[in-house]
Amino acid sequence: DLALRWAKQRGKNRVELYDVGYDAKLRRRTTLEHELRGAIDRDELHLQYQPVVMLPSVRPVGAEALLRWNHPVLGSVGPDEFIPVAEECGMINKLGAWVLHQACHQLSRWLAEGHDVWVSVNVSPRELHATCYVDQVKEALRAHRVPPQRLVLEVTEHAMAADVEELIRRLGDLRATGVRIALDDFGSGYSSLGQLRRLPVDILKIDRSLVVKPMVRVIVELGHQFGLEVIAEGLGEQEEMAMVVAAGCRLGQGYLSGWPVPAEHFEARLDTATSPGARAVAVPVQAG
Ligand code: C2E
Ligand code: MG
Ligand code: MG
Ligand code: MG
Repeated sequence: DLALRWAKQRGKNRVELYDVGYDAKLRRRTTLEHELRGAIDRDELHLQYQPVVMLPSVRPVGAEALLRWNHPVLGSVGPDEFIPVAEECGMINKLGAWVLHQACHQLSRWLAEGHDVWVSVNVSPRELHATCYVDQVKEALRAHRVPPQRLVLEVTEHAMAADVEELIRRLGDLRATGVRIALDDFGSGYSSLGQLRRLPVDILKIDRSLVVKPMVRVIVELGHQFGLEVIAEGLGEQEEMAMVVAAGCRLGQGYLSGWPVPAEHFEARLDTATSPGARAVAVPVQAG
């Protein structure tokens, strides 16, 4: 993608190497940033819910809320692309607040309907470090009358790349509200098992990249020893599920046991699982 380009700058001619791909990326980024600013008001965002299931029965016990953006012209833009943009341009706090309220609203409805379920929400390090974040969480729980232990906040392991002491304080404050904390993407890079012991977390989500490795058994056992719930992420194949079950993992999440789906589809899944005579092994739900 490199092109030679004549640049006439500050009155002198010079030749520079110019990355055309970089230019395209920058334009895309600028567009996303601009469009994202109005996305909430234009009602372009929604949450999908992916079941967290018991293994091996695949009965759903919880749901991870995943943010979706459908733009009329750009089409569907994935969170892996727009969340980093929102983080860089300071919009993540506004997006995160929206997600938190949507998720609590949905959770309160499911609880009111008698479903025994929890919901998890992804939290960016940026949000975590805002001093008012704990109050936002308390306010969302109060406004929607959600018992705190029904809400899980997922913090990615990458947050540990920064100030670990500060992170420990922040998570401690959040946990004091009664919500549960999950360490997301565990094993994808930054954290050590030693640091894990010091983090005030309740749930360990083992990263997809680690699920196939022999060491998954060690992590599951250590997690349980530390008193943590352990969820194996990204179970897409039958063999992966068999492997984590053999490793002693009691909870899983992945395309095999359920795609992320809109709330009403997830609800149907809950009804199936809790109604009398429900199938012991549910059929994987495909995204609509
Ligand atoms: P994550 O929190 O680790 O979420 C799991 C991701 O793995 C989701 O991607 C999910 O669709 C995908 N996944 C689930 N099962 C499978 C599987 O069997 N195989 C494979 N290959 N993938 C699977 P998604 O929805 O594209 O989200 C990507 C990331 O974006 C999330 O990773 C999370 O870090 C971030 N994200 C999503 N929603 C939010 C949000 O509301 N706020 C923040 N701050 N971040 C979010
Ligand atoms: Mg997550
Ligand atoms: Mg994850
Ligand atoms: Mg991830």
